[in-house]
Amino acid sequence: MTPIRIAFISGFVFLVTLALGLLFVQFIEQDRQLEQQQAITQTIAPYTQNLQRQLNHSLSATFALAALIRQFKGVDNFETIAADFIESYGGILSLQLAPEGIVQQMYPSSSNDGLGSEHNLLENSPWQTQALLAQAQGQLTVAGPFAGEFGTELVGLLPVFLVDDLGREQFWGFTVVVLDMNQVISLSNLEVLLEQGFDYTLSNLHVDTQTLTTLASSTRVPFETAVAYEFETSQGTWILNISQKEPDSFVASFLVEIALVGLISALISGLTFALLRQPIMLQNQVEVRTQQLQESEERYRNLVELSPEPILVHANEKFVYLNAAAVQLLGAKDESILLGKPIFNLILPDMHNATKKRIQQIYQGHRPSERLDIQIQRLDGRILEVEVSSMPIRYLEQPASQAILRDVTERKKLERLKSELISNVSHELRTPLTAIKGYTEILISEDENSLSQQQLDFLNIVAQNSNRLTNLINNLLDIESLDAGKLSGELDTLDLSDVLRTVAQALKVNADEKGLDFEVDLEAGVLIKGDEGRLVQAFSNLVANAIKYTPQGLVSIHSRTKDNEALVEIRDSGIGIAETDLVKLFERFFRSSDKYVRKVGGTGLGLAIAKAAIESHDGRINVESKIQQGTTFLVHLPLYEG
Ligand code: ADP
Repeated sequence: MTPIRIAFISGFVFLVTLALGLLFVQFIEQDRQLEQQQAITQTIAPYTQNLQRQLNHSLSATFALAALIRQFKGVDNFETIAADFIESYGGILSLQLAPEGIVQQMYPSSSNDGLGSEHNLLENSPWQTQALLAQAQGQLTVAGPFAGEFGTELVGLLPVFLVDDLGREQFWGFTVVVLDMNQVISLSNLEVLLEQGFDYTLSNLHVDTQTLTTLASSTRVPFETAVAYEFETSQGTWILNISQKEPDSFVASFLVEIALVGLISALISGLTFALLRQPIMLQNQVEVRTQQLQESEERYRNLVELSPEPILVHANEKFVYLNAAAVQLLGAKDESILLGKPIFNLILPDMHNATKKRIQQIYQGHRPSERLDIQIQRLDGRILEVEVSSMPIRYLEQPASQAILRDVTERKKLERLKSELISNVSHELRTPLTAIKGYTEILISEDENSLSQQQLDFLNIVAQNSNRLTNLINNLLDIESLDAGKLSGELDTLDLSDVLRTVAQALKVNADEKGLDFEVDLEAGVLIKGDEGRLVQAFSNLVANAIKYTPQGLVSIHSRTKDNEALVEIRDSGIGIAETDLVKLFERFFRSSDKYVRKVGGTGLGLAIAKAAIESHDGRINVESKIQQGTTFLVHLPLYEG
């Protein structure tokens, strides 16, 4: 969905929710008004009845006067009676008697709006029409309302008929009452409504003219929500409009409601916007990530593709990927020749067993700690020696191995040449050296007496150095043969304690000479398979070193079985080995630069030989040392389980 469309939909949602919200508010509003009207109706009912009653009551003063006239054919003490009636009926401004329609008597005399007495109601009067109507219909008729001197006035005209001697009804005249609407209203207690927070307006819909006249009102503001209470009288319809004064809080709450609706609509449309946008954002994110991934894959591919190192991937023992360098190394024209072909086609058969085991382990996710040297046959038939370092990967959803190859054919050739050279030279040196050693010894032993002391000393130095040279040459030959993986002759089943005892017995003298404590603690019956001569040589080197590099204190040899292995500990309390030296310790010709070491002298080949010998027995050698505190060599050998 495009962003414009989302904005459009969100806007639409906003409008719809706003409209619905406003409708809802309006509905609530109407409901509230209805409730208000009902409340008003209930409240005002007694007051409207009061008003109607008071109005009728005030008007009925005309009937009382009429009754007197009918009885006495006139009213003698009119003023007293009128004052009395005004007092008791209430709401009356003036009472009048108009025999023949002409006002003859009125009380109080100042009223009647200056029309004065002798005023003919039927001829020249503001209420002439009503007077004629009253006379014609024979019933009380109300004229007005009028704006009088004291406020709104109504005039009630009651035609009085007297029965003559012949029994006929003869029009006598009118009894007239002028009502003061203000008084009528106040007598109806309408004012109480004001105290209760209501406003009222009393109007009259004129029976003939149908004009609506406001008689009294407590407010100037026209009503919007009001309860209209109508009641009919002979003078037309009276309408009492009552409304409740709206409290300010009402307007405020109405505004709050509208604001709330606006807010909710905005919220809903905002939510819609966010929800609709989310897939777009997700999609964008996915696109960005995919691109990043593609780029990183591309970079990685380029790295591998263009690497000068031959890199290949195989799965199910078949080639699935080769970079250009690997294609070239294996002598193929292009990768398609090798892809899908078994890797064992190229590995020389006598390497298959060792390689197969390793490859299966890699497919299972194990990363081999060491590189593997194998011989392969290129497509052009040439044999190569390659060093392979592999690691497990997943390639196209299956377990695979990524292998980096290094062509070590040349290096191996050189190493072989070097070994051959060393062993040839060593062999060649050994013969003349044996002669020198032999003749020197003969000279020393046979001509001891005929030689001067100085000559004897010189001959002893020659003998000593020939011995050192012989040692060095023997060591060199040993290390070369160990490197070539040659263990002399058949392997024997050996009791490790016998081997170590031989070593201890031979070297105890050296320890004794230095005054060292020499402890030997050997577990008997720990059987191993090995070349006794080599093992004696390896352990002799270690024990001799321990004695050599311990000025005073203790040297111990301890052997036992541990975790299904034979474990030999050769411990000393000697000079120790610096941490920086530990990494180079087993390298050929390495000797520490420590003064003590330099003074003692040596070839730097002893540990290299020991390590090679132990490893050729499938064992391991480790060292723990603290400078000035001592050193422990730990040798692990596999137990013989035959
Ligand atoms: P070297 O003929 O010098 O003894 P090695 O190969 O036997 O040759 O030992 C190499 C070096 O390792 C020694 O020169 C010495 O610095 C150090 N080393 C070997 N064994 C010990 C030991 N037990 N205590 C201290 N240093 C030792």
